[in-house]
Amino acid sequence: MNTKQPILAEHATGSNPSIEHMDDNGHHKLWRRFLLNISLVLLIFTLGAFVGMLSKHEQLITEELISRARAHFKDIVLTRRWNASYGGVYVEKKPGVVSNPYLKDPDITTTSGKTYTLKNPALMTREISELAKKDGDYQFHITSLKLRNPDNTPDLWEQQALLEFNTGIKEKSTILSADSKTMFRYMAPLYVEEKCLSCHQDQGYKVGDIRGGISVSFDITHIQKSSEQNRILLIIITVIIFALLIGIVYYIIANLYRKLDDALMKLREMATTDPLTGLFNRRYFFERLATEVNRHERYGHNLSCIFMDLDHFKKINDHYGHASGDEALRTVSQLLRTRCRSQDICARYGGEELVMLLPETPLEGAKKMAEDLCQQVAKVPIPTPNGSKFYLTASFGVASFSNAATQKDVTADDLLSQADKAVYQAKAQGRNRVVVANP
Ligand code: GH3
Ligand code: MG
Ligand code: MG
Repeated sequence: MNTKQPILAEHATGSNPSIEHMDDNGHHKLWRRFLLNISLVLLIFTLGAFVGMLSKHEQLITEELISRARAHFKDIVLTRRWNASYGGVYVEKKPGVVSNPYLKDPDITTTSGKTYTLKNPALMTREISELAKKDGDYQFHITSLKLRNPDNTPDLWEQQALLEFNTGIKEKSTILSADSKTMFRYMAPLYVEEKCLSCHQDQGYKVGDIRGGISVSFDITHIQKSSEQNRILLIIITVIIFALLIGIVYYIIANLYRKLDDALMKLREMATTDPLTGLFNRRYFFERLATEVNRHERYGHNLSCIFMDLDHFKKINDHYGHASGDEALRTVSQLLRTRCRSQDICARYGGEELVMLLPETPLEGAKKMAEDLCQQVAKVPIPTPNGSKFYLTASFGVASFSNAATQKDVTADDLLSQADKAVYQAKAQGRNRVVVANP
């Protein structure tokens, strides 16, 4: 089968798949690992950004809720202080207005016969709290661990907060969800002031003591809902950003990979090719020769070698010029390439010496090939720069390791020196001929 010798990279890969393949595999693995690491870094980066944004968002909402609760708490404390600064305030006891049962003599009657009852800070706080609760906007609850009015009994959360206030904690807040409603609860302590002592001294308090606390709570269901929507939006944005980043990085890396791969291919080609003739170079030829001799030793396959030396090339150079000599080398190389099968190796051995390594080819086949080539070389015209043409001849030496007599411990040098000797004989016998080596 006379096929054109394939381009070098293909030839190299096809001829020695194990080595080249291993290189490519390692190469791909390295890139894959690199891409994986980059993706991991991007994932960590986007996850970090997501968690950071989310916690900032939650922190802002919580701060906003606490500051609203603090404002409510402060309002009620100020109102109580106003009340306490007058020692309580009297309101007319109209129908529906009840006296505070926990006060001693809360009612007074004026000379005109009107009755007034005392609204002390505690009662006022509770009544405002009931008003706020009716409005539904927010509610608060005055409470203490030392109760006078059982209506002010703390619930479990308030009790826990009051205990914590005694350990020095200044405020407490939490988010509680129940019955599809989410409530924000806040509580801060109430301290005994000078004015409080008129009513509460009998309970053993002194100025600065914690007398109890006021808890404020309000509905934040709508805030929680929009916060949840924000969180979902944030997740979507994060996923999109991550996908975009990955896409961009993959695109850039794939481009880079292609370019590097091309460069590597070129480099491989340059490392194995002779630039003048386009044949394999001497270095690559020796690599392949060693491999093929090993295969011959292991499996006993035929292996032949054709050595070829252009005749009187020095004279051709002298007569037609160096450029024409180069052209002659290119033309003969091209002829060789057209006779090369895919498994054959055609290489430039040295100056005007070319070589063909023919795996799976017996001596007879190689001899026939050399004789054909010898005739064809003599017939191929070589163009000169001035438009004329000339012809040249070549001497061939053929050597072979045959399968019939598989030799152990044969070396690549044996095959080459046999072929070389045969060329020498061809030269001695008058050139333009084929001599088969005598093993
Ligand atoms: P013989 O028939 O005995 O082989 O004679 P020859 O002149 O071919 O052999 P010799 O070894 O004396 O000369 C080889 C010549 O090949 C000498 C050198 O200038 C020429 N040569 C080697 N490489 C190149 C090349 O790349 N281009 C050209 N144009 N000439 C080359
Ligand atoms: Mg020579
Ligand atoms: Mg020569």
